[in-house]
Parts: sequence; C-alpha cells; structure tokens
Amino acid sequence: MDIEIKDKAAAFKQLINQNTNFVVFGHVNPDGDAIGSTLALYHYLKNQGKKPKVITPNDFPDFLKWMPDADEIIKFSENETEAEKHIKNTDVLIFCDFNDTKRLSKLEKLVQESTLPKVMIDHHPQPTGFADIEFSDTSVSSTAELMFEVLLELSGKKHMNNNFADCLLTGIITDTGVFHHNSEQPRTYEIIAELIRLGGNKQKVINKVYNTNTYDKLRLLGNNLLNGMHYYPEFASAFIVLTKDDQQKFNYQVGDTEGHVNIPLSIKEVNFSALFIEKDEYIKISFRSNDKFDVNAFARKYYHGGGHKNAAGGKSYKPLNKTIENFVSLLEKHKDELLNG
Ligand code: 5GP
Ligand code: MN
Repeated sequence: MDIEIKDKAAAFKQLINQNTNFVVFGHVNPDGDAIGSTLALYHYLKNQGKKPKVITPNDFPDFLKWMPDADEIIKFSENETEAEKHIKNTDVLIFCDFNDTKRLSKLEKLVQESTLPKVMIDHHPQPTGFADIEFSDTSVSSTAELMFEVLLELSGKKHMNNNFADCLLTGIITDTGVFHHNSEQPRTYEIIAELIRLGGNKQKVINKVYNTNTYDKLRLLGNNLLNGMHYYPEFASAFIVLTKDDQQKFNYQVGDTEGHVNIPLSIKEVNFSALFIEKDEYIKISFRSNDKFDVNAFARKYYHGGGHKNAAGGKSYKPLNKTIENFVSLLEKHKDELLNG
C-alpha cells in the first residue's frame, strides 16, 4: 500500500463510518471477479451493521449463483423499479471491477445523474475518472485482490468472515483462470492464504465454479471446437464463431461459453484468439493474447470495447458474416505484430 492509497482508504473509511446505506455495482455481463468483489464488499459492510445492496445491469451465470447472498443481488434488467429505488435512496455508490460508466449499460444514466459520493475499486487500465475516490491498480490479479488490500487497510480483518473469503477466492480464481495468468506476484498467494485462514474453502469454490457443467454446455464446447473454430496459422490466430442457430441447438445459457476463448490460444502456433457470439442487437466479441499483442488497444480501436492487454472484449454491429470478413482483414493488417506476439 503506498501513501496515496492510505489517504484514499482514510477517506473511504470515513464514508463508511458516516453512512448506513450503500449500493455496490458490478459491470454488465458480470463475471466471477465482478460478482466476487461486489458480494465480498456486501458481506464486509453487512458484518458491521450497514445496509448494502448489490446491483448488476443484467443476469450472471448459474455457476456463480451459489455464492453467499447471490440471490440478494438486484438485476436491473429484471427489476428496474427496485434498482432505481435503491439507487435514489442510498447514501454512497461503489463500483467494482470496471472503470468506465459505459460498462453499466442501461444503468449508466441513473448513475451519471446521481450526485451521491462515488467510490471505484478496479484493476483495468485507463480509468475514465468518474468517481470521487478511485482505487485503481493494474498490477493486481483481480479486483477481488485489490478489494482485500483496500479493506485490510480500512479496518484489518475485523469484518471479514468465511463468506467474505469465499467471494474473494472466487474473484481471484476466475480472473486468473485458476492461476494460469495474471498470477505471478507472491502477494496474490499471501492473500489466498489469508482468505483460507478466514475460513474460505478453495476446493468448494473450484467445484462450484468448474464442476457444475450441464450436459448441453459440454456439447456446445465440443461443437465450438469441432465446427465453430477457424484457424489462421499465417496470422498466428484462431477464433470461434457461435451462431444463433447453434445457441438454440445446444440450449445456450449465460456463461456457457466461459473460458472458450482461451482454448484456441492454447494451440502452439497461436498468439491471438477471439470468440464471436451472435446476439439480437450486436455480435459480442472476446479477445485473448499470449503476450505482446495488445488486445485492449485492438478492442478499443475497432470494436467499441476495452479490457486488459491480454484479455479484452467488444462489440460489432455488422452482420455476422461481415464481422468475420472484416476481422480476417484486420488479422492480415496486423500480421507482423501477431506473428511476433
Ligand atoms: P470477456 O472477454 O471475458 O468478456 O472480457 C475480458 C475483459 O475485457 C474483462 O476484463 C472485461 O471486463 C473486459 N471487457 C469485456 N467487454 C468489454 C467492453 O465491451 N468494454 C470494455 N471497456 N471492457 C470489456
Ligand atoms: Mn476483473
């Protein structure tokens, strides 16, 4: 913790001490780190007698629904009135795992109109600076890890319990792909040790997140690899395309493609992978790279998106076939970087 973070933590602590009601936001299409860090903060606040609410713009995958008090999360897409009521009647707004209000999707307007104090806790690059107190650190594995550091600075381990620990373990484990990436710092493992000491159950988290597949979900994975994958060794790239037809065929549910984008990247010759999912209003795209190729810059430049250097996402508003045609022409354009990446 540097001095600047200590100052911010003192300001955040004061906000917590002086207020009772808190709304904690995760980003659209919430992942394990978004749900893990928001719910951990929820437990930390609840454990000291505060009244927190977690709100997400939309639903999250079934493999995160076991998390303690996940059923208390208000999804704006399913319950706009209740979400709005809480946002208007709370004392403080807190944002986890994103740094740009665009990531709030249809909730963005309500947040922008609010004059309440805003706190952000996040690990993505290029924060837009929308909050009053911003904890931003791109060197950590996950927002969950940063959440632990910030709350430890605020009040030690006093309000941390086993539920809190399971939530943060989920955030760290999912954002590192079970310690495959973003997990080179010894500090990550010191925090894991602390979370286990607090009663967190690492094996339970892994079983709930990774060993609760449906039959259809595995068959969708098989189809994506056999029929949906395109391989361009000349551009050190491979990508998966998931059409609406195939979504129907395999009864696609939110989260069913989690981790699929990483699989083409495991081909020896591949430095860059992508996953295209055809939706009603746009094509949702995920990008991953091995090392040098900056997918955050690529997603920002061409696909209205962003993320991290090696993991990012975006959208295309062109039809699927045009989107793929255009993407392949970009591979050609970036060929030299890709082969180097
Ligand atoms: P995923 O591919 O797993 O959806 O996202 C990978 C990373 O990119 C995550 O850190 C996620 O928050 C970020 N990301 C995904 N989609 C977008 C987007 O449309 N805009 C921005 N700014 N970040 C995104
Ligand atoms: Mn994250």
